Amino acid sequence: MCGSVRADDEGSAVVLAGWVSRKRDHGGVVFLDLRDREGSVQVVAHPEDAPGPHAVASEVKPESVVRVEGRVRRRPEGTVNPALPTGEVEVAAIAIEVLTESETPPFPVEDGVDVEEVLRLRYRYLDLRRPEMTEVMRLRHRVVGAMRRFFDERGFVDVETPMLTKSTPEGARDYLVPSRLQPGKVYALPQSPQMFKQLLMVAGFDRYYQIVRCLRDEDLRADRHWEFTQLDMEMSFPTERDVQDLIEAMFVRVWRELLEVELTTPFPRLTYEESMARYGSDKPDARYGMELADLTEAFRGSGLRAFAHVVENGGLVKGFAAPGAAGWSRKDLDALVQEATSRGAAGLVWLAYQRSDVKSPVISHLSPDELGAVASATGAGDGDLVLLVADQPSRVAVALDGLRRLMASRLGLIPQGQWSFLWVTDMPLFDWGEEDHAWVPNHHPFTAPASDDLNPETAKARAYDITLNGFELGSGSIRIHRAEVQRKMFDLLGLTPEQAEEKFGFLIRAFRYGVPPHGGIAVGVDRIVMLLAGTDNIRDVIAFPKTASGVEPLTGAPSEPSQEQLDMLRMRFR
Ligand code: ASP
Repeated sequence: MCGSVRADDEGSAVVLAGWVSRKRDHGGVVFLDLRDREGSVQVVAHPEDAPGPHAVASEVKPESVVRVEGRVRRRPEGTVNPALPTGEVEVAAIAIEVLTESETPPFPVEDGVDVEEVLRLRYRYLDLRRPEMTEVMRLRHRVVGAMRRFFDERGFVDVETPMLTKSTPEGARDYLVPSRLQPGKVYALPQSPQMFKQLLMVAGFDRYYQIVRCLRDEDLRADRHWEFTQLDMEMSFPTERDVQDLIEAMFVRVWRELLEVELTTPFPRLTYEESMARYGSDKPDARYGMELADLTEAFRGSGLRAFAHVVENGGLVKGFAAPGAAGWSRKDLDALVQEATSRGAAGLVWLAYQRSDVKSPVISHLSPDELGAVASATGAGDGDLVLLVADQPSRVAVALDGLRRLMASRLGLIPQGQWSFLWVTDMPLFDWGEEDHAWVPNHHPFTAPASDDLNPETAKARAYDITLNGFELGSGSIRIHRAEVQRKMFDLLGLTPEQAEEKFGFLIRAFRYGVPPHGGIAVGVDRIVMLLAGTDNIRDVIAFPKTASGVEPLTGAPSEPSQEQLDMLRMRFR
């Protein structure tokens, strides 16, 4: 390979093929940098020693594919390039053949290019040819390989599950595929293999895993894609701890193989309640402080009417102290208020602690007791900025979580190179679905309740999430394995027995034939690779991704079906 020629190869005859990444003409001598996936090497064509190759090299255009025969030699004194793995050597060309010519590419095929992402996606094959992108794809390959070996060694069986199937609810919209053979009917693309892996447990497989594509039609975020890959696993007769220990061991293995980093286990655990209380998030970033303080009681009956009012109505007053931000300009502070309101909070109150003075737009409404309570609960001292939000609990959480992350990044408080894995446990069984105006499963409807308590407001689930540096990597649970509990669950979710039968009859039927207690988890492969690669854009770790508007710039998908296709499916668009 071009990128693997070394000083040891001195004197060897080589045949290399690759892309011309750069060309320089130094007073008659032509230098080509020849690149393949392993790196690049310098090829030299001398006009007198090698007039044929020199003529070809003089004409060849960048990104053309060439085949070079030559001899490896050490670079002359003073021309060694220590930054390149091949930097000690060059290849003196004996013959050069252009295999295919390239037009001028729409952007330079090199690292660190500043090009619009759509253009990169349109010419993804050129983008992936860039060394940093090749590197990410190979990192991804190695992550998946390490995971496979890990599960293989522990007796897990890889079983593929259908892509054209029935809806598997994971809280997103389904992608539907009309059936030609069953006109008027549709398949759903799987949001996950959830029900199939449970059926595999009924089938006695005991330990299953799959690295599987899942599809969810939902709002995109920087760390989310519609078509994503998860490591999906399920086992029979486990406790929560069994599943968690196994996943920890897998992460230890992946981090060791990929980064030569030894992770410490067991990973810390937080209950959902504690996580929400301390961080306002179920995927807390625990690499820095600024934990949330609860000031609700301190503001009961406050002269600050807005706060008193929220407290009277069962809301919360919470906040945190951002170290060293007391001197922020009015413009920066206004931007923080803006951030809080854009996250749905009614407003934001800030207090700047400068020497023994406290500045705040609401200072005249605050009593010394309240100020004292704020300082002691948040730990605010000289130079700190306290941010307070008063609202309904969920809005307080969303706003403060966002502000905490924002402040951490603006204040440079996020330590680099730290891997803060965390389990969030004792999740609620249900969430109130604002859109559905109904209780929806916090995880999915197959998750076992932690006790007999099935009251949607208080019930807890045998569910757990794994998070890393403030990102959710995966969720899992111990499942319901008794038909009557599963029926009760569907009932609580507002499904009539007929609807439950229509949607999940096959699962309930399976539950009549001997079900082992079982549980599992799925972790997002794209997101893991994203964090390992140090990017915050999930599209960077997917070979052929779509844009936020659902377009695949490379192929132009989605496209209009032909009339013939529609006729075959007996469909028409309104
Ligand atoms: N099916 C779940 C998901 O895809 C994971 C699990 O419960 O195992 O999120």
